[in-house]
Amino acid sequence: MTKLKDISRKKSAELFEKAKNFFPGGVNSPVRAFKSVYGTPLFIERGDKARIWDADGNEFIDYCCSWGPLILGHNNDEVREAVAGQLSKGLSFGAPTRLENELAELILNRNKFIEKIRFVSSGTEAVMSAIRLARGYTRRDKIVKFEGCYHGHSDSLLVKAGSGLVTFGETSSAGVPQAFAQETIVVSLNDREAIQEVFTAFPEQIAAVIIEGVPANNGLLIQDHEYIHFLREITKKHGALLIFDEVITGFRLGFEGAARHYNVQPDIITYGKIIGGGMPVGAYGASKELMSHISPDGNVYQAGTLSGNPVAMAAGIAALNILSRAGFYEKQEEKTRSFVEALRAYIRAKGYEVQIFTIGSIFWFAFTSQLHIKRADEIDPQSMEKYKVMHRALLNQGIYFGPSGYEVGFISDAHSESDLEVTLQAIKVALDVVFN
Ligand code: PMP
Repeated sequence: MTKLKDISRKKSAELFEKAKNFFPGGVNSPVRAFKSVYGTPLFIERGDKARIWDADGNEFIDYCCSWGPLILGHNNDEVREAVAGQLSKGLSFGAPTRLENELAELILNRNKFIEKIRFVSSGTEAVMSAIRLARGYTRRDKIVKFEGCYHGHSDSLLVKAGSGLVTFGETSSAGVPQAFAQETIVVSLNDREAIQEVFTAFPEQIAAVIIEGVPANNGLLIQDHEYIHFLREITKKHGALLIFDEVITGFRLGFEGAARHYNVQPDIITYGKIIGGGMPVGAYGASKELMSHISPDGNVYQAGTLSGNPVAMAAGIAALNILSRAGFYEKQEEKTRSFVEALRAYIRAKGYEVQIFTIGSIFWFAFTSQLHIKRADEIDPQSMEKYKVMHRALLNQGIYFGPSGYEVGFISDAHSESDLEVTLQAIKVALDVVFN
């Protein structure tokens, strides 16, 4: 059996002990606590290109990429200079700036799926606001979401499936009123009948169906094009809106995200992560008509002190300018494809029971023999034990993956061929550790 020496986590462990005095669980967002993997969380000191360094001086090639925003890697020159340029001019005004126009123009000129946009400060806020717009516009209260899709932590969306095929949801967090859960219906992905039943059971009550562009928060649950087109048709037929939550897929699967990938026109699209170049930003967009319902034009209220924050806008403009360059996405996809293919060849040769699902520059390891996983309940929770072993073996070789087997990995423009080659060899070793 391959033995790998554990990296030192002494300083990270000390910092984590201290952090526990300040923050619940020692963290400011739960998954950072490393509860699903081995050991104490690593406290990161700095990042450059594809690499990060922790408090103990360990160096890693990073595939978490801040959970997706860093499609250009860490410390990108153009993004850093744009941010630095703005810093001396002011951090926040609570008044409009030219930068908001610039970022909006950059997006709207190249994205035919939305006509107007509103900037907010996080993905959660973007989705929460999109849901309110859908409810305000349709004058209906119920929404439909899918088991296995994550849309941030607003009340309406912290809901999981009830016991029946089509039942009201149950809250998935204490503190979410049951009355809220009553307005959210949770169904399985890739199940046409369930959606049909929802519309039959709640006629003229569904404001919107919301789905992640490509569900990527609970494994990578790649849906068939036909199913997404079906969702478009059935929502239209029943006067409900279709919301694409593209917080991950927006500007990742291409400048126009999943909407372009499927060639489906959703009614509202939410964005986050990449749109801010690593700064806190979210956004939602729709047709001019729909967006006219947002305050101050319309009666759907939504606001934010830091919305359209100039530093975040400057970062977003710099990042999106780079993404607009010819061939940017093709390059990321090609790199990802050959990386995944090389791994698959090794897995096949060894006969290991593991699949790599991939789309664009996103990938996900699933310890299963199933060739397709389209629904959350098709993932075996027991398989996460194997991920835990792989995660430890990767950290010990200088490769940083997200600290949960349900999380996807991201490849950035900063990942060089040699970074990927080093990673490939490390993953082979890690898989040998898992299976031997
Ligand atoms: N929607 C999706 C699809 C997400 O992946 C996330 C975050 N992972 C969110 C919404 C929430 O975004 P944030 O964490 O910025 O609030």
